[in-house]
This record gives sequence, C-alpha cells and structure tokens, in this order.
Amino acid sequence: MRLVDSHCHLDAAEFDGDRDAVIRRARDAGVVHQIIPAVEADGWPALHALCREQPDLHPAYGLHPMFLARHREEHLPLLREWLERERPVAVGECGLDYFVEGLDPATQQHYFDGQLRLAREFDLPVIVHARRAVDAVIASIRRIGRLRGVVHSFSGSPEQARQLWNLDFMIGLGGPVTYERAQRLRGLVAAMPREYLLLETDAPDQPDAAIRGQRNEPARVSFICRTIAQLRGEAEAEIATATRENAARLFALSV
Ligand code: ZN
Repeated sequence: MRLVDSHCHLDAAEFDGDRDAVIRRARDAGVVHQIIPAVEADGWPALHALCREQPDLHPAYGLHPMFLARHREEHLPLLREWLERERPVAVGECGLDYFVEGLDPATQQHYFDGQLRLAREFDLPVIVHARRAVDAVIASIRRIGRLRGVVHSFSGSPEQARQLWNLDFMIGLGGPVTYERAQRLRGLVAAMPREYLLLETDAPDQPDAAIRGQRNEPARVSFICRTIAQLRGEAEAEIATATRENAARLFALSV
C-alpha cells in the first residue's frame, strides 16, 4: 500500500535524535510522500536542507499562527522570494488560531491574508491551520478568492466542510479521527466524498488512539488509513489510492 502523509513536521526538534530512523519507518510503512509545512521563517533553511535530495520529502514554506510572536513584517516579502526561488509544493502552514490565548486576531489575519495572496499570485495550494476559527478561515478564503488547498486536522461541522469543498479545498484528517469520542468527526469521514479527503499525522503532535500520549510519526498514517477505511466500510487499499491521488492532484506530486 502506498500512502501520502499530507502534513508532518518532520523538521521539528522532537525528531533531532532519530530522524533517519523515523524516515525509514515511514518508507517501510508505505509512505511514498511527506508534505512538511514550515512554521516560522527561521526554520525555512533547515527544512530546505532536510528535503534536498530526498524525492519523497516536500517542504512548504509559511508562517504558522501559533508562532505569531516570531513573525516580522519583512517575513512576507522574504516568503515571496522563497516561493519564487524554490517553487515549493504549497504555501503553509498558515491560518488562524482562536484557541491559544495571546494571539492577536488582527495580527494573525494580517499574516494569513498576506500568505493567501502569495498563494494566489504563485498559483500554489495553501496548507491551513484553523482552530476554533473555521468560519473566519472560510471567509478569508472567499474574500481573497481563486485559491485551493487543504484545511488540515479539520475539526469543524459537516456544513463547514461542505463550504470548503465548494471553495476547492480538501480536508486533512489524522489522529483525532481514531478516538471513539470524536463522534462528529467520525460521522463526517464516514459519509464524505472521497475526492476531498487527505490523510495526515501532524507528527510529532496529535498521536492516534493506539499511541496515545506518545510522540507521533509519519509511519502512523497507515493506522489513520485503516481507521478511516473501517469507518467508511471500504477497503484500506481504496482509501490509500484515493487519498494518494488527491494529494498528487493538490500538490502536483507524481505517485
Ligand atoms: Zn501543522
């Protein structure tokens, strides 16, 4: 089975001690591509170095809302230079987080809008973080217009999901869907159209139910695939193929 982890922070410090082994385990588990979104400008060079000469590791460059205190106005023009020079698979991770305290909404919106505009200018998909902010994210996507991308670790309602699909956005699902208490999310994934679904781990965060409390890693995307297949009553291989093709379409990967 060949799988794509559409959202993995393989460059995070949590993997500094054993990153090569983590990559090996992912490949052994059938992960043929990993999309690795940046979180802050300081991390772009190391992310670039990590993915260089690794045909299955794909960086995206962006400014994550949770790292708002680290962003500077000059990082937006700098991002523009990086997009122009590197032509990454996506812009991200960007978005809005109304859950974490102390992140000024107007400043978040400023950086999010700036990145959406760059994605439109370079015709790149966006990788979006939306926590307690799905409606505001949908409004932003509508306002900027002519965008495509993914809302990763989607946690909104079926109606919000439908609005995103109508805007040419997919939803990424990972660890949270493996917990039985996540009834709304499990109901959504059981019934949703396959063409808008991406698998993700968000490693090292969001461990699935079988590794609760532990460090997550990209090899676990196989467990996400199995869980979603069970919830939908479909074969694992079908989910693997459909989500791989979705990722290939969105990020222009060859699979
Ligand atoms: Zn992330």
